Amino acid sequence: MTIKVNEIFFSIQGESVYAGIPCIFIRLTGCNLRCMFCDTVYAYHEGEDLSIQQIIDKISCYTCSLVEITGGEPLIQDKTSDLIDTLQNNGYEVLLETNGSMDIGKINRKCIKIVDIKCPSSRESKNNRFENIKLLTQKDQIKFVISSKEDYLYAKKIISEHDIKIPGSNILFSPAAEKVTPAELCEWIKNDNLNVRLNLQLHKIIWPDKDRGV
Ligand code: SF4
Repeated sequence: MTIKVNEIFFSIQGESVYAGIPCIFIRLTGCNLRCMFCDTVYAYHEGEDLSIQQIIDKISCYTCSLVEITGGEPLIQDKTSDLIDTLQNNGYEVLLETNGSMDIGKINRKCIKIVDIKCPSSRESKNNRFENIKLLTQKDQIKFVISSKEDYLYAKKIISEHDIKIPGSNILFSPAAEKVTPAELCEWIKNDNLNVRLNLQLHKIIWPDKDRGV
């Protein structure tokens, strides 16, 4: 059985609690959502079918033990949980970035999940699977991409209404490029004394002209 892979590359982790650390990225093909402002449209269909062993062989040229599986939406492919298990069995620490619409319950608990909660501006907030919140471990993270004050207020409401057990430092608030400035988002967070982490996309600051492979 194979997995459809859009791209594999070695870079610096741009987001999350792991921002700034070297990381291998495995971007899987396909997504079940169609967010406004999606920046990985190229991952909807393009890709190559690879066995799990072929993926392991491809990443073995990098001397790095941190791997992020991203997309697209990685959990729409049946073999993703097997890929995670195999990577871990080969000594890799695995991060999984998921759009928050799929069940994370089948993913082994050593894998660190970075789970989106879609805000209204994405036009996909109806697909948030809030049942995932109770499945989060203390190392997992949730991420809100904030494109407007309405999105910010939505994220704040979700945090107050759900029994979120992960630390505030693992709740990521990302300002959407050209929609909300980091300074604006900082002001909103400070004014509400909100216990969350401002999450900037380092890779877009470092390589502003590259839109893939970073
Ligand atoms: S979930 Fe991610 S890849 Fe899918 S449409 Fe939304 S932004 Fe794009």
